[in-house]
Amino acid sequence: MNKLEQKILQDGIVLNENVLKVDSFLNHQVDPQLMWEIGKLFVERFEGSRITKILTLESSGIAPAVMAALQLDVPLIFARKRKSLTLKDDLYTESVYSFTKQEVSEVSVSRKFLSAGDRVLIIDDFLANGDAALGMAGIVKQAEAEVVGIGIVIEKTFQPGRGKLIDLGYKVESLARIKSLEGGQVAFAEH
Ligand code: 5GP
Repeated sequence: MNKLEQKILQDGIVLNENVLKVDSFLNHQVDPQLMWEIGKLFVERFEGSRITKILTLESSGIAPAVMAALQLDVPLIFARKRKSLTLKDDLYTESVYSFTKQEVSEVSVSRKFLSAGDRVLIIDDFLANGDAALGMAGIVKQAEAEVVGIGIVIEKTFQPGRGKLIDLGYKVESLARIKSLEGGQVAFAEH
């Protein structure tokens, strides 16, 4: 069992059969040492991918993503969630259904920061139905840049996100894989 899995067992709170709360080390309070280790694991998993930028979604993806960016010495971009957009011309924008908020929001990245030729690693805190990752991949596509992979801190394997991303040809690497949250218990999938 890795440090992340130990932390999930120790501090994660099973809200219901579909949602795990990890606000003591990832989603509200942040454990920087653990984030550093997570960044290191992403760097190892995507070794040789010639990454030029990392893309995540504000706010919970930022901590793990910045640690990977620091170790790769590449910029981190976080897509911003905005309710209303007055000026769309200088933005790449996608609509993303939020798993936790159960509403659609517009996520956008300035055209200044992504361009053709960029090799982008997408990082997010959780993978459930895949909408957040697909939205970010859509932004990379709009920029005519390439998605070299998708790195996820916590994947719930009983939800369909991975299948959708794999079917589209993306390389998906997740650091903790949860196969069930039934009965208030976290059960990990085999490595
Ligand atoms: P998806 O877009 O893959 O359906 O869901 C991923 C997004 O929803 C992540 O960006 C994350 O913020 C949120 N999310 C999905 N499942 C969980 C969960 O079990 N716990 C928490 N805290 N966030 C989740």
